[in-house]
Formats: sequence, structure tokens, C-alpha cells
Amino acid sequence: MMARVEVDYDVCEANALCEALAPDVFALDDDDNLQVEDPTVTDENRARVTQAVAACPKSALRIVEDA
Ligand code: SF4
Repeated sequence: MMARVEVDYDVCEANALCEALAPDVFALDDDDNLQVEDPTVTDENRARVTQAVAACPKSALRIVEDA
């Protein structure tokens, strides 16, 4: 099953906690906007992405499971 991570940019405050936990997925750009390099959640990165979702103080991240 495939999954992807989504960002609610309306509530993201760009504090980079997600980047700290999953730097291969999340990165703040030079303008302090959160960029998602590749939203695909894989077996390899799922644990890190799940930690990032749980750590986001704004609940701006969620994993969407594709059918
Ligand atoms: S942890 Fe949440 S609020 Fe912080 S940059 Fe990531 S998505 Fe935005």
C-alpha cells in the first residue's frame, strides 16, 4: 500500500521540527517555507515520517494512505 505525507500550509509555522526528525523528506527553504522533497511514504522512511507527524506542534502533517 502506498502512502504520502501532506502538509497543511495554513497552520505550519515553519519551526523545522519535522526537518530535524526526517531531513530526507522535509526541508525549509531560504524563505522559511517548508518544502517536501518527495511526499511518498515508504517502508524505509515511514518510521521517521510518523515521528515527524507526531512531533509537529501545529498538527500540520498527516499521512494519507492510498488505497
Ligand atoms: S513540524 Fe509542523 S509546524 Fe513545524 S515545520 Fe514541520 S509541518 Fe511546519
